[in-house]
Amino acid sequence: MRNQGAKIQFEMLTELRREAKPLSAYDLLARLNQRNGKLAPTTVYRALAVLVEQGQVHRVESINAFVACQCVGHPEASVLSICDDCGSVGEHRDDALLKDLSALTERSGFSPSRCVVEVRGLCTLCSAELMS
Ligand SMILES: [Zn+2]
Ligand SMILES: [Zn+2]
Repeated sequence: MRNQGAKIQFEMLTELRREAKPLSAYDLLARLNQRNGKLAPTTVYRALAVLVEQGQVHRVESINAFVACQCVGHPEASVLSICDDCGSVGEHRDDALLKDLSALTERSGFSPSRCVVEVRGLCTLCSAELMS
């Protein structure tokens, strides 16, 4: 079962990519259990941690859930937009903005390690629906 971790990571990524909305660790565990029979939660959570570490999956901190990365691998964090209506999450990249945020806190002697920027509102589809 040496490759079980890799298999779980692959299935997890597939689930997250298929889903337009973020999934919680618990949702992922339930879905993977459906495919594989009962997995140890630690196996699933470890696979999730690896994917987050690799940047293939992003954690949406404010709702404690996970989305597949929508760009091609990037070292800097991204800005996530979360739709209050349908729950979809969009990903936006602006490395200069994140550097500015770090610099802003550094000015008061703070040592930033990472930025989390999440913007709430309505996605394109939901705001179009509101207009019509
Ligand atoms: Zn990303
Ligand atoms: Zn929406």
